[in-house]
Amino acid sequence: MKQRTIAKAIKSIGIGLHKGNPVEILLEPLEADMGIQFYRTDLGITIEATPNNVVDTKMATVIGKNGATISTIEHLLAVVYSYGIDNLRISLNSSEVPIMDGSGASFCMMLDEAGIMKLSANKKIMIIKKNISYKDGKKWTKISPSAHAEYDFTIDFNHPVIQKQKYNFIFSKKDFIKDISKARTFGFLKDVQALRSMGLALGGSLDNAIVLDDKKMLNSDPLRYQNEFVRHKILDAIGDLSLMGMPIIGKYESFAGSHSLNHILTLEILKDKENYEVKYFDKEYYNAYSKVFA
Ligand SMILES: [Zn+2]
Repeated sequence: MKQRTIAKAIKSIGIGLHKGNPVEILLEPLEADMGIQFYRTDLGITIEATPNNVVDTKMATVIGKNGATISTIEHLLAVVYSYGIDNLRISLNSSEVPIMDGSGASFCMMLDEAGIMKLSANKKIMIIKKNISYKDGKKWTKISPSAHAEYDFTIDFNHPVIQKQKYNFIFSKKDFIKDISKARTFGFLKDVQALRSMGLALGGSLDNAIVLDDKKMLNSDPLRYQNEFVRHKILDAIGDLSLMGMPIIGKYESFAGSHSLNHILTLEILKDKENYEVKYFDKEYYNAYSKVFA
């Protein structure tokens, strides 16, 4: 299987979740082995999408380099990963990827419009060889060897609309678009009020997040999936783990995981070369995974 980029450049505009300002996003093709690169047009700084460039994971996944940062990269990256794109330049004129509708749906539309271009270089995949886990109190995250690319997430919120939700997702592009890409980010009204007082979440609204008070959902439009909350956590996990830079064959599992736990997991994987194997996506793997990473 060959590496991919997009067939033509595509532009869009949206609102940054935290600053609330309009942000222009431009996706452009890149040559083989260049990876996913973010570029701050206002500062002239390139930030490669790699685990080592992650500088913050509290509210969203943030990468940074030479004083420049880009926040909320995870939904866009989940879509780029799921479309099998290995090389892409993402230019932004501000410090946030636009939040769009709080899901990956708008980015799917952008990539559908841009089209996929195959490059001549071979694609690589990462095969997980050992169990790697990280625990933080009751929260944990783990990756283990598997024949699939699999994501299994459980959340347990003491809230009547969410409660306990568990979702097991066997990855494929088709199922990602159908079952994961439309799941929106969510937050609690009391947190939104606290964030606003700190000058954050200024762009947050019922158009780009599911917002809950103590008892109910405030949005008038219904949930897109009955368990949209846990599906969104899988969207986040796919985006966060995509920083590894290639398709991952293994089973990811988490209970109450977060961007922070996902980031630590990527660093734990990379700590020891025995944990994984990087292979060209050649005949042997092509037969096993060509449908998964179509
Ligand atoms: Zn998210």
